[in-house]
Amino acid sequence: MIFSHTQISQYLRCPRSYCYRYLDGWREKETRAAMAFGRCFEWALAAYFQGNDCTAALFKEWEAFRDASFEYKKGDSWDRLVHQGVHLLQRFAQDDRIRIPRPKENLQLKMIRSLANGHEFVCYIDAIGEIDGQRHLIDWKTTTSRYPEEPQGLLSLDPQLICYSWMSGIREVALVVFVRKHMPEIQYLKTSISEEQRQEFGRLVDTAITQIEAGQFLAHSGIRFPMNGCTSCSHLGLCLGNQQLIDTKLIRRPGASELDWLDQLED
Ligand code: SF4
Repeated sequence: MIFSHTQISQYLRCPRSYCYRYLDGWREKETRAAMAFGRCFEWALAAYFQGNDCTAALFKEWEAFRDASFEYKKGDSWDRLVHQGVHLLQRFAQDDRIRIPRPKENLQLKMIRSLANGHEFVCYIDAIGEIDGQRHLIDWKTTTSRYPEEPQGLLSLDPQLICYSWMSGIREVALVVFVRKHMPEIQYLKTSISEEQRQEFGRLVDTAITQIEAGQFLAHSGIRFPMNGCTSCSHLGLCLGNQQLIDTKLIRRPGASELDWLDQLED
């Protein structure tokens, strides 16, 4: 089987949810505008580093979703998102803090790692380049609120960055966060992942896969306030037997597990 960070993190969050999605084929319908916009924005960033017109690239990609029946957050719209995106691209160019040498090779890098029992782990890394002259593995994020920067060192616990560091062997990692708000802001958040963290993540992956192979899919429901993972879980309708929720949120695609590595592109 091919595993990804999305799969393992979903298993660790709730094995039952993993089972619904990857074994039974219940996938979330694409209804969130912000997620589709984030992918379009990454295309625009690729155009920027390849020396092309990134604003035109953003319009071209986002145009495909102009009539999509998306859920927009309060105050958001197709126009507002593209407007914010253009501001952020301008700001990014003004900051001029990142260099990506040979962008065709160093953007959206596919990495594959062999695991025990013939399994593989696949990930797509957004970029490898220099921030302020120092080499980093870079992950782009688009969001409506700033990422927390306190307490110091918090970012070094980010499981996705630890995963990418484990896959690439690169110690210096960074999130570049494009904050869509009235005054656009870009956070350049850098941290280091230790060898010990990388090794521990490898053990976590091995443990999760062993449990998956053993068919352990117990529900980890989060019914306590305030961290109730069930309220944001797309599979809630299945657990509650609520057909209306199932019809609203999910689509069933048997056999989808063969394309699980594509999940990386959703992050
Ligand atoms: S609703 Fe809760 S228990 Fe059910 S799959 Fe989702 S997270 Fe797990």
